[in-house]
Amino acid sequence: MNEPVLVLNGNYAPINICTTRRAMGLILIGKANLVMDGRGIVRTVSKTFPKPSIIRLHHVIKRPRPCVKLSKREIFRRDQFRCQYCGQLAKNLTVDHVLPQHLGGKSNWSNLVTACAACNHQKGGFTLKHSGLKLRKKPQQPPGSAVYLFRKYLNIYQEWEPYIQGW
Ligand SMILES: [Zn+2]
Repeated sequence: MNEPVLVLNGNYAPINICTTRRAMGLILIGKANLVMDGRGIVRTVSKTFPKPSIIRLHHVIKRPRPCVKLSKREIFRRDQFRCQYCGQLAKNLTVDHVLPQHLGGKSNWSNLVTACAACNHQKGGFTLKHSGLKLRKKPQQPPGSAVYLFRKYLNIYQEWEPYIQGW
């Protein structure tokens, strides 16, 4: 019952992921309808229900465009798990402040990059210029597109793809 279910807004924009339990609750109270099932059924004492894979809310709810939350994991993902200085796919990834914190460097998308331990060590508390290292690309906030946000689910739930493309 904790399997992820894709939630579409009233206008079909993919807005969220919830659990099967929550999705079925929304259907039962009449706030959403089933868009896609195919995961078998759930039995209660008196009824059976198809297990949802995608649901759609009856109304359009207003919410800010979803964006990727800043976290270590998401920085690695944005940088495709490669050190942004030497380009290696490293095992022990770290997050480096391009402009070091002690020089006023902020913890945001444009100042944080994935670095391997060796490059992070070389960079130390130096600025980019003084470290002798070069960035492979300018770090930026990742896109808030549905494909980027929900990409990790698409390997498992390919049926979501047509509902996510283009948003
Ligand atoms: Zn490196």
